[in-house]
Amino acid sequence: MELINPRTFLIVANLLGLLCALVLWVQARSFPADIEGLRDWAKAVVLMGCAAGLASLRGFIPDGVSIVLASAMLLLGELLLVFGLLRYTGRKPRWRPAIDAIVGLVVLLIWLTYGSHSYQGRIFIMSLAHATFFSLGAWLAWQVKPAGFGSRFLTATFVIGVAAAVWRLVTLSMNVTEADEIFDRSLIQQVYLGAFSLGILGLSIGFIIIANERLREELEYLATRDPMTGALNRRAFFARADVEWARAARSQRPLAVIASDIDFFKKVNDTFGHHVGDLVIKDYANRAGHMLRLPDTLARFGGEEFVILLPDTGMKEACQVAERIRREVEKRLDKTLPPYTVSLGVAVANAGQGDFSDLAALLAHADAALYKAKQGGRNRVER
Ligand code: GH3
Ligand code: MG
Ligand code: MG
Repeated sequence: MELINPRTFLIVANLLGLLCALVLWVQARSFPADIEGLRDWAKAVVLMGCAAGLASLRGFIPDGVSIVLASAMLLLGELLLVFGLLRYTGRKPRWRPAIDAIVGLVVLLIWLTYGSHSYQGRIFIMSLAHATFFSLGAWLAWQVKPAGFGSRFLTATFVIGVAAAVWRLVTLSMNVTEADEIFDRSLIQQVYLGAFSLGILGLSIGFIIIANERLREELEYLATRDPMTGALNRRAFFARADVEWARAARSQRPLAVIASDIDFFKKVNDTFGHHVGDLVIKDYANRAGHMLRLPDTLARFGGEEFVILLPDTGMKEACQVAERIRREVEKRLDKTLPPYTVSLGVAVANAGQGDFSDLAALLAHADAALYKAKQGGRNRVER
């Protein structure tokens, strides 16, 4: 059964590879440098596409080019797919053993081409290599963060690649007559070549999706976080607080806020320098953050002033949280930092009782309590 001329598949794969590489390359240029791997994928897709192009010229050019060189390019391309994923997932690829293995495979292929003339042997070696590289690809793609659609799509594409390679291995013994070679028109051969050209496209789409998902996540993080401490910024705090305010009103549950400010912080800056001041601010954000439960949010409102939002929390509980933070800070766990203390003001809106007209009024009350704590001698909690 002939679906389509195998040469056509290979030419399509070649063109798709070059086009996909162009897209990946353009993306790589505009993406932040910490999203690594895109350039490797672009090179990989060029190599795989060109390998398909050379294979399509089988019979018109020497076998050394259409078989050996094409196979070497294909293997190198698949290695780069995996190495790009390693880099993307924050690992460091090791070139030396990988290149040694590929050189070994190519030497074997040369022997199978010119020495033993074994088409089956070549298919066996190449299918085994595909299955190995694609399995590694699937395993790495599964671990890609964020674990969104892109990661799953890419994993599935790699798994299909593994399946095609394994199927070819299994059918090898019964299927092939020596003379047919690459342009044999058996169904498996056509499916295999079709999967290959679509595979290049599928993998490229997968890479573009995961890189964009990562970019989106990074931008979202940058847009909502204070870069120094990683706490929420003001804007993100109000976005969340508005939601919690509405939820509290609807469910008739209390909503607490704690305003906090480091004591005599100007003195820390003046005595130890701005840099140490920054470290103290980070230390506070870190320690206060660790005292909170999951739905609670810590936000940096400016300088050394932080606000905490505690959904579903009454006055008694909120004061306990504030007191725990105050004591934790007083303990001074990090001996490389100067000792410091913090003052905290607590306010709670009890939904249903209408004690605060809106979120701003609640925050103003927490600020007033904080002021009271400062007036009362600092290093204390007020309400
Ligand atoms: P108080 O106990 O009344 O809070 O006294 P204080 O000295 O802490 O007074 P205040 O809270 O007004 O001091 C804020 C200081 O924080 C002033 C400013 O120079 C400093 N500051 C603001 N932002 C930063 C920052 O990002 N890093 C550092 N190191 N200092 C900052
Ligand atoms: Mg202060
Ligand atoms: Mg302040």
